[in-house]
Amino acid sequence: MRLTKSTDIALRIVMRLAVDETDHLVSSNPTTREVAEVMGVQYTHAAKVVAQLQHLGVVVARRGRGGGLALAETRRSVSVGWLVRRLEGEGDVVDCEGDAPCPLSAACRLRQALRQAQEAFYASLDPLSVEDLVADPTGPVLLSLRLR
Ligand code: SF4
Repeated sequence: MRLTKSTDIALRIVMRLAVDETDHLVSSNPTTREVAEVMGVQYTHAAKVVAQLQHLGVVVARRGRGGGLALAETRRSVSVGWLVRRLEGEGDVVDCEGDAPCPLSAACRLRQALRQAQEAFYASLDPLSVEDLVADPTGPVLLSLRLR
């Protein structure tokens, strides 16, 4: 199964914000532009993803002096499976009903098997938290990504 680019960018941003709370040497509350730069993503794409993360209640944007992005309170413990499910949406891994609907769509065993495989994929991410994602060796790498 392949995640959308937006989900990958969202997870990168969430990981970057998660290490803010672990090291005072890292710029806390970075702007969307700063996060996009250090995580190697386009600003416009990052801005859309940040808006989605705010809508999900995972990221908050503080305004004014010293403001910027941060993880919402308690979100370091959020399940990666929960987050990926919401970022990916409800769609199937195969588009059976698109512009040219598949003739098997009403009674397809493959479709059911793929749905079960998709759920197994998400379920494997359920026990993992955002905090787990920034443990060694990832955390130190994130901490080394300084803003220019
Ligand atoms: S064969 Fe089954 S899974 Fe594939 S497109 Fe058709 S209905 Fe969907």
